[in-house]
Amino acid sequence: MGLRLIFLGPQGSGKGTQASRLARLMGVPHISTGEMLRQAVADGTELGKKADAIMQAGDLVPDDLVVAMVGERLGQEDASCGYILDGFPRNVSQAEALDAVLATPLDGLVQLDVPNQELMQRMLLRAEQEGRADDTEEGISRRLEIYWQETAPLSDYYRGSGRTVYIVDGYGSIDDVFARVALALAVD
Ligand code: ADP
Repeated sequence: MGLRLIFLGPQGSGKGTQASRLARLMGVPHISTGEMLRQAVADGTELGKKADAIMQAGDLVPDDLVVAMVGERLGQEDASCGYILDGFPRNVSQAEALDAVLATPLDGLVQLDVPNQELMQRMLLRAEQEGRADDTEEGISRRLEIYWQETAPLSDYYRGSGRTVYIVDGYGSIDDVFARVALALAVD
């Protein structure tokens, strides 16, 4: 079982929750580009200033900025034995950039599948609970549109280049889904 994983799944699939739980279990960092970018916005860094309006609209922050941010993060000491990437790569060009910078190849991809209707319900609930700036109806539908157009094809990209894609049914409670993730990866 490898420690260098990507989590793939649409908004509301529970990807962040599952990625963070698995990272804790395995003792590797959970690297969420969405969280890093929200932190950059909150801190008012140069990157944050560039990303703020783009994120609110639900669009993708330019690849060069995100690739540089992730490259730097992966170079930190705590990521030397593994990591779980969440929210990156988000399109094929980011995936190619990632392959180009990695010294040790990825072990695989965990893909969380959730029915569309359930996704919407979860997103609306999160919008109420967390009040994130991009969790408006327009922001959510823009992000889902980009997901299906640009991000979902990564499953074929990785499968086509010989990487293992673990497909996990993401419907059900957090514990149930996590049990499936652990089973798929053969960790407990
Ligand atoms: P969600 O999964 O709900 O879309 P994220 O926290 O993953 O939330 O991302 C929030 C926003 O951050 C995205 O809509 C996008 O603007 C930006 N973002 C996150 N990761 C990337 C990435 N890899 N490339 C470009 N933009 C990104």
